[in-house]
Amino acid sequence: MSEPAIHIDFIRKPIRRMHLHVYPDGRVVVSMPWLMPKRMAEQFVQSQWDWVLTTMDKLQHQPPRVLPTVSKQQADELMAFLTERVEYWRVVMNEQPVTWKVRNMKTQWGNCRPKMRRLTFNLQLALVDNDLRDYIIVHELSHLQVPNHGPLFKARQALFIPDWPARRQRLKNYQR
Ligand SMILES: [Zn+2]
Repeated sequence: MSEPAIHIDFIRKPIRRMHLHVYPDGRVVVSMPWLMPKRMAEQFVQSQWDWVLTTMDKLQHQPPRVLPTVSKQQADELMAFLTERVEYWRVVMNEQPVTWKVRNMKTQWGNCRPKMRRLTFNLQLALVDNDLRDYIIVHELSHLQVPNHGPLFKARQALFIPDWPARRQRLKNYQR
């Protein structure tokens, strides 16, 4: 065997289907249902082995993403904007109060935990145009009614930001 040994963790969880994850540090994790025989999970991994190796290779060759620096002044300006606009949209969208915070995130502009009514915004929004920030606010507030991105969600989002596809496209031009 010339391949280096790869460590695989099998973790049982209250789920119905198996999931396979490959992490940048080289770990392979299989999440599997409580009662599934381990042999089945092993066969599953074996059937996906090419994918595991390809993904691992990709992850290990990706340079670590470096987030652009946000100055204190830019961060303050974003906080002031969000303080005003989250409240504005919350009222316009007829939502109960929410809490929100800002932090640096590598993969998303924002997220929402509907049950806790808690929104998180990416500090990198400090570097984007105001109308794109509005789009993210409305997107996250829309998740309070619809947790997924299905037709109902899109309809709600479009109600307040009719040109959201164009704004989403522009957001993709910002490096995160
Ligand atoms: Zn979303």
